[in-house]
This record gives sequence, C-alpha cells and structure tokens, in this order.
Amino acid sequence: GKPICECNACFAGPDCSDFLSDCAVDADSGDPTFLEPFWEQHAASSAIVMAGWHRMSYEFNDGSLISEELKTHIRRVHDIVGNAVTDGRFIIFGAGATQLLNAAVRAISPEGSSSPEKVVASTPYYPDYKFSGDTSLWKSSAIDSSSSQNFIEFVTSPNNPDGQLKKAVLRGPSVKTIHDLAYYWPHFTAIPAPADEDLTIFTLSKLTGHAGSRFGWAIIKDEAVYQRMLTYMSLSTYGVSRETQLRVLKLLKVVIQGKGREMYEFGYKTMKTRWDQLSKSVSLSKRFSVQDLEPHYCSFSGKVKKSSPAFAWLKCERQEDKHCYEVLKAAHITGRDGSLFGAESRYVRLSMVRSQDNFDLLLQRIEKLVTEEYASK
Ligand code: PMP
Repeated sequence: GKPICECNACFAGPDCSDFLSDCAVDADSGDPTFLEPFWEQHAASSAIVMAGWHRMSYEFNDGSLISEELKTHIRRVHDIVGNAVTDGRFIIFGAGATQLLNAAVRAISPEGSSSPEKVVASTPYYPDYKFSGDTSLWKSSAIDSSSSQNFIEFVTSPNNPDGQLKKAVLRGPSVKTIHDLAYYWPHFTAIPAPADEDLTIFTLSKLTGHAGSRFGWAIIKDEAVYQRMLTYMSLSTYGVSRETQLRVLKLLKVVIQGKGREMYEFGYKTMKTRWDQLSKSVSLSKRFSVQDLEPHYCSFSGKVKKSSPAFAWLKCERQEDKHCYEVLKAAHITGRDGSLFGAESRYVRLSMVRSQDNFDLLLQRIEKLVTEEYASK
C-alpha cells in the first residue's frame, strides 16, 4: 500500500482529507509526479531489494564507475523511442542533468583560453546556468572568424518553459552546442527524428519521473570530450551512486518490457488531457493566453501528434497585469515568474507535471479566474 502522505499545502487532518479552500496551489515545481500512478501499477516489478554486502565497492568488477548493463538498457530505450542516435556514441552518467550540464561546459571549454567562453541560450530559457544573455545578441560576433570569443549555446528542446522544439541559433567556428533534451520523450512532445548532435543530455527525472534518484546521461560524439567529462565526474563525485544505477536498471527494464510503449502511452494521455483542459479554459479568456504549439509528425507513434507540454507558458494580456505572477498569486496559484527565464514578468510558467489532485486544483483555479472575467463585465 501507499505510505501515509505528508499533507500538501491544500489539505490537513490525520489522513490529509480536509480541504483548505484558500490554500495556494503549487504550480511552481517541475517535479514530475504525474507518473506515480504508472509506477504504482508496476510496484512489484520495479522494486529493488539490496543485501548489505551487495555493491560495496567503489568500482564495478570491470574497474569502471558505470554499469555496462545499464548503458545497454539506455541504448535500448532510445532505440525504441527513436529520439537519439546512440550507435558509435559515448555515454556517460551523472547525478541528474544538472551535474552533466556543468561537466559538459567544462569539457568543451577551450583549455587555457585567454578569453573565457560565453554561455548563451535563447529566451525564454531554463536558468540552469549563468547565461550571458539571449543568442540574438551574439549572432554577428559568432560568425566573425577574426573574433577570439568562444561560445557555448544551450539548446533545450522541447524548451523549458514553453515546450517549443528548438534548433541551435548561433553558427560559426567558435560555437559549440549542448543539447538539453530532458523533455524529448513521447509524454511531452512529438518525436520527429532521432537527435544526432555533438553532445546531448537526458535525465531520468523527466523520463520515468524519478527526479529524486538524481540520474542523467550524456551522449557524446567526440572521444576527447567524453574523456574530459569522465575526468570531471571522477574528480567531483567519483561517479554515480551504485544504488542509483541499480534502481535505474530495474526501472528501465519495466519501461522496455513488452513493446516498450506502455509508460509513454500513459504519460502522453495524461499530459495531453491536461493541456487540452487548460488551453481550452484559457482560450475563453481575453485576459490570459498560453503558448501556441504546432502539431508535429511523431515517428514513435506514426502520426501527427497534438501538444502535451510539461508547462503552460501563461501570459497576462492586460496592460495593468504586468506582474502576472502577482495576479495569479492573488488567485491562490503559485507559478514561476517569467523574469526567471529571461522573459518579461508578463509571463508565468505553470507546471503541469505534478499529481492529478494538484493539476485538478490548478485547473479549477484557472477556470474560476476566467469565469470572474466574464462576471465582472
Ligand atoms: N534541464 C531541464 C530543461 C530541466 O527542466 C531540468 C529539471 N527541471 C533539468 C535539466 C535538471 O534535471 P535533473 O533533475 O536531471 O538534474
């Protein structure tokens, strides 16, 4: 059975069943607990038990810090989904995408270079790095071959916060890219083609929802970059916890069992239903709008897929609502201020990946706001 929960902000009482009507619904965190029901249905097959003597060593039997069996399973997962080329590529593990993004920046920064590289991204961007601003500011200096400035462009696709599929913007000899493909899974997007970039990063957090296991991986073309990332990993944490690797292996076995589609079918259905409900409600409003997402052909499902983004990128349209976060706060909705993504405060990111209860409450509050807009006319 499920353990007794800690009540969230909207419930109280011994079994968390007393609803507090003026609580703030948390649409801030991107904690992907929407997948919990899938794992509850596969509780036994995904469970691990470890004896006290097991996996005590620093290294695996072959002397490495990385489970070869897990690596093979990761390749299988990508082959089934068709979202990344892994043949002839190097794979490295990290404590979540977060650690890998840092390792990647280190590994591709020119050694001993006099001018430090600029790390850039296109707005709105997920602020997982100290960016030197929007890519558009640097377009001309990147193609200028006489410039000694080096660039690293982060490409997050689908993008956090707005769910758009993205391509690199900067071009030129001094530009290197890091593709953060955390959301490039069938729950959140169509999969038009396998990614085949120099350096891509994925995370278990958004694939299976196990954000707390702190596990991610990078797929790398160039062996020298791979070696430098390995060095970074061994100096910073001496690899990823062996317990985590064991748990991830067990989870991925469930993900690929049968035809390897069940988790994605559940994930897509859940996210698509949520987006349909939320965008339909907002479409009745003149005060608020959400991003437009075009349907794309998905090679995984063999059809054109409707949107199912992880986040709503909500805009307050009225002149006087320029602090959209505050407008929502007053309606008991906690989002994340657009300015944190390098955008205007007219925007707010709303997380749609949390539990069903949480989403239902968010939807109810949005519907109430939209109804009030008409009642006040
Ligand atoms: N990249 C993006 C685009 C994300 O949204 C997140 C998590 N919200 C991360 C990286 C970090 O993921 P992890 O949990 O693997 O550190």
